[in-house]
Amino acid sequence: MSSSYAADLAAILGDPSRVLTHPQVVEQLSRDFYWYSPVLRRQLDGKVGELVVQPLAEKEVVAILRYCHAHDLPVTTRGAGTGNYGQAVPLRGGVVLDLARMDRIESIEPGGVAVCQPGVRLGLLESEARKVGWELRCYPSTLAKATVGGFLGGGSGGIGSVAHGNLRDFDTVRALDVVTMEAEPRTVRHEGQAVHEILHAWGTNGIIVRIWLALAPAIDWAQCAVAFDTFDAAYNFSERIANDPAWTKRLVTTFEWPIPSFFSPIKQYAPEGKALVFFLIAANQLGAFEAAARDAGGQISYSGAYAGLRTRPLLSDYTWNHTTLWAMKTNDAYTYLQCAFDRDKVRDQMRRLKDRFGSEILFHMEFWKGGDGKIVPGAIPVVYYTTEERLNDMIRYCREIGVFVANPHVNYVEGGGRYREDNVQLLAKRRYDPKGLLNPGKMATFEPKSP
Ligand code: FAD
Repeated sequence: MSSSYAADLAAILGDPSRVLTHPQVVEQLSRDFYWYSPVLRRQLDGKVGELVVQPLAEKEVVAILRYCHAHDLPVTTRGAGTGNYGQAVPLRGGVVLDLARMDRIESIEPGGVAVCQPGVRLGLLESEARKVGWELRCYPSTLAKATVGGFLGGGSGGIGSVAHGNLRDFDTVRALDVVTMEAEPRTVRHEGQAVHEILHAWGTNGIIVRIWLALAPAIDWAQCAVAFDTFDAAYNFSERIANDPAWTKRLVTTFEWPIPSFFSPIKQYAPEGKALVFFLIAANQLGAFEAAARDAGGQISYSGAYAGLRTRPLLSDYTWNHTTLWAMKTNDAYTYLQCAFDRDKVRDQMRRLKDRFGSEILFHMEFWKGGDGKIVPGAIPVVYYTTEERLNDMIRYCREIGVFVANPHVNYVEGGGRYREDNVQLLAKRRYDPKGLLNPGKMATFEPKSP
């Protein structure tokens, strides 16, 4: 890339310190957590941008996009780079647009809607919201690092989803301001259904610069870990709690042994050979909850107050896609899948997967509320990887027996689980990025307009 691009962009920002060109820095800011996937590792290792630009405000984003459009420069946006599918890895070089410094919370409205810039860390938003009686409806287990914009651009749900659904449900994302990639970039407000044109589009069809995010009333939480002799007993109890609206909960995560043995910092809470369930449950229900767990044959291996992100142990650090990380630390042959089981057939589906793949698949279950208000028995199973063929065989078999798979081993929006069948993300890309300069290569069905 011509060094004149860096000089021009520094002049546009009026601050050369926010245009980074040192190769090691650029390489570091061109990566995310794609290495969770042995398949993506092969495809994406060595892919880097050519320089990084760090805007502080919407008008700077507009000016950067205007310049990049005029010079046909690809732009790959990143928040904190914790995505798992290489969403933030530039495939065609160009500019990495690092939004982590656009990190202002504008307001937390009395009705429970946060208005903020995209680079705000979810953990900060959670603590600021709690100060005024609100909390995030759902968040990924990476909340300490991950940004709100990155969560909307590349994430789906997490802790809290068992009560409030995923990010795309129940009007959690109220509105977005999006900057387009045109000769004269526009800021377009997306409200209501129109937010779905941009959500989980991996920064391919516009840059989110302002967000209105609905919150939930804050609750005093407690953490609890319950061990069971068998996975079946653990699953039955966790499914019951997840489904029963009388329990106020934020997290229900079930692990088959030996997954709990991977959690080395908290091994004292993971009795040898037992399945384990982690809960975040309303503090005022903890006594009754422990009694219910014992009645179901469970042994409480840990229980205690939850006082925010600094709580130790922080059980959520072992849930959602952190579970895979602990598995990979134990043996780097482990990887994962993202599944949704059928509520009525989940036991049969799990049995069939075990019969066919044995210990190549280890069950790590996560529950969330579906858009229809019913609880979905989801899973991020730990998978022992041998070959791509074997992995694809497992994905094929899951689909054959009715288990939905959002494939985390592909690097284009359509291949994952969140592409909209009504093509609204693609249609927005055609309108907002006709040259195809935003995160090029990630929306496979898009064809740039010929000049
Ligand atoms: P990035 O990785 O920087 O970006 C994600 C995507 O969004 C990229 O395509 C990027 O181009 C795009 N993007 C970023 N900002 C913008 C913007 N302002 N406008 C338009 N596009 C933008 N995900 C979950 O959903 N739930 C989980 O529980 C979860 N657990 C995880 C656990 C671990 C250990 C890891 C490594 C990942 C996990 N993830 C999870 C994935 C990831 O952490 C989250 O999705 C996170 O919210 C991404 O935020 P980020 O700021 O790191 O985004």
